[in-house]
Amino acid sequence: MILILKSNATDDQIDHVLERVEAMGLQHHLSRGTFRTIVGIIGDEEKLRQEPMRAIPGVAQVIPVLPAYKLASRDAHPESSVIDVSGVKIGGGNLGMIAGPCSVEEPERMFRIAESVCKSGANLFRGGAFKPRTSPYAFQGMGEEGLRLLREVGDKFHIPIVTEVTDPRLVDLVSEYADMLQVGARNMQNFALLTEVGKSTRPVLLKRGMSATINDLLMCAEYILSQGNSNVVLCERGIKSFDPATRNLFDVAAVPAVQALSHLPIIVDPSHATGRPDLIPPCALAGLAAGADGVHIEVHDCPEVAKSDGPQALLPEQYDELASQMKSLASLLGKTISPLPETLV
Ligand code: PEP
Ligand code: MN
Repeated sequence: MILILKSNATDDQIDHVLERVEAMGLQHHLSRGTFRTIVGIIGDEEKLRQEPMRAIPGVAQVIPVLPAYKLASRDAHPESSVIDVSGVKIGGGNLGMIAGPCSVEEPERMFRIAESVCKSGANLFRGGAFKPRTSPYAFQGMGEEGLRLLREVGDKFHIPIVTEVTDPRLVDLVSEYADMLQVGARNMQNFALLTEVGKSTRPVLLKRGMSATINDLLMCAEYILSQGNSNVVLCERGIKSFDPATRNLFDVAAVPAVQALSHLPIIVDPSHATGRPDLIPPCALAGLAAGADGVHIEVHDCPEVAKSDGPQALLPEQYDELASQMKSLASLLGKTISPLPETLV
């Protein structure tokens, strides 16, 4: 950590800063410039983070050298992580192709959509059984019945299932049925939920909050990792902006930006990022071109009757066309799309 002292810091204040550092059992290196004095601190930065260093008289600025997300950071783990979701790999050159409706709906529809996206090359099937809705009057999901249905679909087509868990009390229940737990944008900073999914053995899909910085996202991943669950995949799903032309603002630069900072895979969700079927294919391809480790897309066979997010759903045939473009791009990029496993592991 580096402390930059105020230009008018007195000798007594400088001595006091050095005493405080020594009292913490750390070493310091003082550098007196013409205008500013700088103190370099050598030792465990975590110890320092707990201290309000900027409250010491004479200190102007505190600059950490290492990120606070030490488990999620690439410094700690230079190799890109590969996350195994019941036999389907995401990261390190393996692309996750997540597809399915926003909400779990009636069985025939679920089987129909799943059959179609599996044929197109999807390797993870999604659907929300517990829906975090902006309005308390909107459809809240089918609950456990929806989980049961997802499991049947997963078992029939040998495709792993990813579904959202909205409450720490539901983590055990959702883990019984799902291969991967989704933490949604609205819950990214639900620390009790992050702690609970961190204790689960299921891989976690952590979506970026709509007002979250990249640092916030990585700190939330750290919550999960710090509980012992290192199987985390991040998801860029758009952030709030001033422009209502798209549902959110697709932050494609977040993909390489996160990859420079973290070893965790990051996928893109152009469905929630744009909210517009016409923009989803180009943004999905842009995400892959920017280095994303996968793409998450909502697909519905009759969007006009969808229980949620119908206006942004791709039709199965539109998904099929996009999937073939994604496959071509993947091979151009030298990446692999994990095939469905013979049996789910
Ligand atoms: C979803 O995946 O359907 C969803 C609600 O996503 P987000 O949390 O990104 O809004
Ligand atoms: Mn949705």
